[in-house]
Amino acid sequence: MSDSQRTPDAMDAATTPLMAQYLAVKRQHPDALLFYRMGDFYELFFEDAEKAAAALSIVLTTRGLHLGEPIKMCGVPIHAAEGYLNRLIRQGFKVAVCEQVEDPAEAKKRGSKSVVRRDVVRVVTPGTLTEDGLLDATSHNYLCALADAGGTLGLSWVDISTGQFRAQAIERKALPAALARLDPTEILLPERLLLQSDLYELFQEWKSALSPLPNARFDSENARLRLQSFHKVAALDAFGAFTRGELAAAGAILDYVELTQQGKMPRLGQLARIGAGAILEIDAATRRNLELSRTLSGERQGSLLSIIDRTVTGAGARLLGEWLAAPLTDIAVIAARQDAVAHLLSETRLREDLRAQLKKTPDLERALSRLSLERGGPRDLAAIRDGLKAAVDIKTLFAEARFGSPPPLLQQALTDLGHHGDLIERLGRALAESLPLLARDGGFIAHGYLPDLDQWRSLRDDSRKLILELEARYRSDLGIASLKIKHNNVLGYFVEATSTQADKVKADGRFIQRQSTANATRFTTVELGELETKIAQAADKAVALELRLFADLVTEVTARADGISKAAGALALIDVTAGLAELAEMESWSRPHVLRDGVFRIERGRHPVVEAALKRTGADTFVANDCDLSDGRRLWLVTGPNMAGKSTFLRQNALIVILAQMGSFVPAGRAEIGVIDKLFSRVGAADDLARGRSTFMVEMVETAAILNQATKRSLVILDEIGRGTATFDGLSIAWATLEHLHEMNKCRALFATHYHELTSLAARLPEMKPHTMKVMEWQGQVKFLHEIAPGAADRSYGIHVAELAGLPAAVIARAQEVLSTLEQGEQASALTRLADDLPLFSAVVSTASKPTGASEPSALERALAEINPDELTPKEALEVLYRLRGYSN
Ligand code: ATP
Repeated sequence: MSDSQRTPDAMDAATTPLMAQYLAVKRQHPDALLFYRMGDFYELFFEDAEKAAAALSIVLTTRGLHLGEPIKMCGVPIHAAEGYLNRLIRQGFKVAVCEQVEDPAEAKKRGSKSVVRRDVVRVVTPGTLTEDGLLDATSHNYLCALADAGGTLGLSWVDISTGQFRAQAIERKALPAALARLDPTEILLPERLLLQSDLYELFQEWKSALSPLPNARFDSENARLRLQSFHKVAALDAFGAFTRGELAAAGAILDYVELTQQGKMPRLGQLARIGAGAILEIDAATRRNLELSRTLSGERQGSLLSIIDRTVTGAGARLLGEWLAAPLTDIAVIAARQDAVAHLLSETRLREDLRAQLKKTPDLERALSRLSLERGGPRDLAAIRDGLKAAVDIKTLFAEARFGSPPPLLQQALTDLGHHGDLIERLGRALAESLPLLARDGGFIAHGYLPDLDQWRSLRDDSRKLILELEARYRSDLGIASLKIKHNNVLGYFVEATSTQADKVKADGRFIQRQSTANATRFTTVELGELETKIAQAADKAVALELRLFADLVTEVTARADGISKAAGALALIDVTAGLAELAEMESWSRPHVLRDGVFRIERGRHPVVEAALKRTGADTFVANDCDLSDGRRLWLVTGPNMAGKSTFLRQNALIVILAQMGSFVPAGRAEIGVIDKLFSRVGAADDLARGRSTFMVEMVETAAILNQATKRSLVILDEIGRGTATFDGLSIAWATLEHLHEMNKCRALFATHYHELTSLAARLPEMKPHTMKVMEWQGQVKFLHEIAPGAADRSYGIHVAELAGLPAAVIARAQEVLSTLEQGEQASALTRLADDLPLFSAVVSTASKPTGASEPSALERALAEINPDELTPKEALEVLYRLRGYSN
């Protein structure tokens, strides 16, 4: 398509063939913005143009008419398209990319008015990205599908940039936790599910990621057939016993991927089933509260993941994130991971060598995915070569290690690294040293790989030399030293002379004039024309040959996709286990005992994130604490002053469970943990204004979820329940909650509170053990020891903390006054007395820092009270001021 076709004339009226083509394509993609290729631009029209111009802050213009109205239009240049795509996808748009699928010269052959054929080659959606520029190297990008069939819900997810493909049957109440775990960027679901009121809240939360599709796309029988044909099997039984819901969801994913990739299916691993109860369930609120992969303000930095991530590859970081998001419940699998970490912890030298090698290893998984979608380039081939080479080197490192043989998980990884010597060798020979991003223009096959190619290339390059020789000859023939042979896309090669030299050139019969510009005249010659054809042919032949070789190499790689993908998985696993071993060594973490019974005994446990923060500032050292929630003391009631470390203590025990069950070592001297099925944490308070919930409502919704779902095998962390309402209401709720946890849920629980009254429940609840954070009071100062011990706090030192926080001295003094009155008992009458005792801040007038409980007015106050400003002359007022000044000295 030439630029002239972007002019208003070409766009005139609905009848233009171009507009008819555009409208036909657009009709097939009503939900996506259509990027319509015209020359060096992707153009957008009509409503799409308005939306894109607003989203990208680019100029909206109009061109031509459609049904009598100007056509709104905007465009993005091809070379910068990825950046614009990125911005649109992040804002929740889908983009259908429509390319020219034939050579404009071909179109011209059908007649001068014919339009170049165009087709949508891909629909870019948040869940189907593969480009490095659009993806975060360290995290997965999941496309999820939710389906209901046969009365059950099924969830399936895929990361097409890595090929991971999974399904899970899921109960409705477990759905929020599963979505929070996967954190998908796109969720497919049948339209009918949107109408189900019990899922309404959840869908509100994920609104920006939802892609509702017609119900028919979620037919479980069709899905089964589609999956069987995709995996080339006659029955799926060997993969697992899938429910109809799971099949419907997985089938919908395949369907959608096929649609968005326009028939080019990426390489996906075998659909694997996640069994019920295989994963430690952690709901969205708990994940958020514990700041597992993001802090409360949404950043990775400062989260648990950022502290434990010692991986050195993108694939390793992704796998670590996956382990942390989905800790296990099968103690044999947990132990297998721990064995791998332990091995690499003891083999220090091997670990160091592995990590040094991995650091240089490219992202095999993502390169493979791009190649299998025909979206890869020469650098992706190089990534495959280097990744597989690293696999060989890593096997050698293991073979050379001096100590015992690796445990089964690492053994399996070594097997998975495979034998790809011939492919490495071929890619090694084929690829040039420095590689272009795209295969399109050639230049990536090494010299010496194919004699034919070398021949065409030297012809092309020699011809260039010949051009220079010809130029030199013309210069000497004509006696014009500045004569030049130049090249442009319109004329091809031409001889250029300045206007003053032109007559001299024309006088030589060999030169045929082609073009005159203001300052120059351009000529061609028969000789130059012949040479040009030769050059063009040689260059074209070379590029065509390179493209054929590229396609061969890609075929060879994709034919071995399963093996390469296994090797990629093995490299990621080695990176994660070596990273966790490194972490254990650097931070002195220990191997936890994850057991089947109900034990929970942590000795000298620490909070990894708080500890790291203290280390960084050098302010303090972290005080390790024990925690024992085994039978007979399942429920700890933790009281203690503000700022004493209650929340830290609660969270650290939850984090230790997560780390232990994901297969990591833990920040504790010793840990024995009876495997936990669900982890709940209600910590802190925040409004959820987006959902119209007040702080207290959020607190109660989360508490309700805990009381309804916690089992005997669960761990519950409750921090300051009932703080967002009136004192007695809050105390009563906290009281009843404690009783429910003790009597009904019978789970292991840590319950922190400032309601010291609750400690009296210990007499009635045998499993409940009061504990307190110790403080030291000395000369009116309070020191927090951050140490937990049996017992109950008698006070909260809240006023002391308020003073540290810089509340005005007068407020502190008044608060102390109120507190001591309240502590005298008879609360109601005391409060009435205080309320009558106005003005509340009489102390302000005296020295601000001195707390006062005295009822006697000072001399200054008495003098002040005697003044009647209305009766004073200005001079008297000044005298009074001097007198008052004297009192305060
Ligand atoms: P509040 O009742 O006001 O919520 P809290 O008792 O829950 O307070 P935390 O928020 O857990 O207190 O801790 C306050 C600060 O004390 C932390 O930010 C940390 O700096 C420090 N801290 C907590 N625990 C420890 C510890 N074990 N060792 C050293 N410092 C600690």
